[in-house]
Amino acid sequence: MHTKTLSQLSAMLHSRQVSATELAQHYLARISASNLNAFLHVDPALTLEQASVADARLANGDTTALTGIPIAHKDIFVTRNWRSTAGSRMLENYVSPFDAQVVDLLKQAGMVTLGKLNCDEFAMGSSNENSYFGPVKNPWDNSAVPGGSSGGSAAAIAARLAPAATATDTGGSIRQPASFCGVTGIKPTYGSVSRYGMIAFASSLDQGGPIAQTAEDCGLLLNAMTGFDAKDSTSLERQSENFNRDLNKSLQGLRIGVPKEFFSEGLASDVEQAVRAALAEYEKLGAKLIDISLPKTELSIPVYYVIAPAEASSNLSRFDGVRYGHRAADYKDLNDMYRKSRSEGFGAEVKRRILVGAYVLSHGYYDAYYLQAQKIRRLIAQDFAAAFQQCDVIMGPVAPTVAWDLGAKADDPVANYLADIFTLSTSLAGLPGMSIPCGFGQGEKNARRPVGLQLIGNYFDEARLLNIAHQYQLATDWHTRAPE
Ligand code: GLN
Repeated sequence: MHTKTLSQLSAMLHSRQVSATELAQHYLARISASNLNAFLHVDPALTLEQASVADARLANGDTTALTGIPIAHKDIFVTRNWRSTAGSRMLENYVSPFDAQVVDLLKQAGMVTLGKLNCDEFAMGSSNENSYFGPVKNPWDNSAVPGGSSGGSAAAIAARLAPAATATDTGGSIRQPASFCGVTGIKPTYGSVSRYGMIAFASSLDQGGPIAQTAEDCGLLLNAMTGFDAKDSTSLERQSENFNRDLNKSLQGLRIGVPKEFFSEGLASDVEQAVRAALAEYEKLGAKLIDISLPKTELSIPVYYVIAPAEASSNLSRFDGVRYGHRAADYKDLNDMYRKSRSEGFGAEVKRRILVGAYVLSHGYYDAYYLQAQKIRRLIAQDFAAAFQQCDVIMGPVAPTVAWDLGAKADDPVANYLADIFTLSTSLAGLPGMSIPCGFGQGEKNARRPVGLQLIGNYFDEARLLNIAHQYQLATDWHTRAPE
């Protein structure tokens, strides 16, 4: 049952071959038998309560395509009843009084919550090792990281612990873990998915999206997740659309831009080979490859690691021991209480970012760092605008290597930052980006570690990205492979 896609599950639910309750029980059993540390909070009674509501809807015909289908949420989305920790000690026992907009929309569609998924603390990281609750193991190889920050989401889909998951992407956190775990994920255009109730990291970059087995599944989820939300000041007012409307369009004549900066030194040869083979597959499907350049790619790392920490330092100031979360047990006065609560509540990477962010925003450094980064951010977006004059979609690797060993980069923040090179620019420009499985690495170890192909579209080109991904998934079977 757990190998089924969302449309297959939907058909089974609607024809009453299986009930929402049976489906929920099936996945809950898989979750409790797994040892990946992908889930942070599971509460079968709550899940089964939602499943019985879904079963009632299925019985009286009040359904959507997603009614009765289980989903797990990245623990950055707040949920009523289930704890919402953002992977942090700061929010260890926090239970939100409301559901995030995304959670609410999916619930309205009739989806059944399986629980909350592990992630890097406040979504800061590329390996899920920054979670206060411990790392997630990559289901393909338990000695490898699952990627981050949505490591729990990607691992849960790969291990078939859930048929669908929410995730968030600030600088690659949907695409990179999807790539490392061999599953499909899409980060839509910035502003498409409401940030209301998504615990904030860097507000001008944070964007929610789905991770699932296939592009078609991601489209079904996006259909339910997107939409204007007056509670999010950067939410876009757009007509709702069916993101799966073009799935079956031919790719004849599609112009694929291949940025030379994505194939430069630093790209592992096994990743390059898998990606080039995927590009060759697209040529067979009728697409043309066009050499393009995104000259500011390298600058995306310093630019992102100025802007994201700056916004994080401001967003995380709310965790002061008063309004939310952890408060130190002993303190002398108010300042001591702030200091101790924040020292105890935040992990090392979060503290590092708060320090960097406070520094680049401070008087005397603001112009040199923050303002300069904002200017280059605009130039990065202009590079993409120029590229999209020449091509319809941009393709390349998601990350320079396959998943690395747990612990390998744990003490080296810069090594983690550098691994984000191919995903950050898309986020800085606010463009939609996707990762689809396209093969495995090479050599004894890497042969068990998946490679993802990155697809970057112009603003609001999600339907086209899903079409392009779907056609590849019709022609290949990488997305159907699952770890033992
Ligand atoms: N790896 C990047 C970071 O650590 C991106 C994280 C994300 O997209 N949430 O900030």
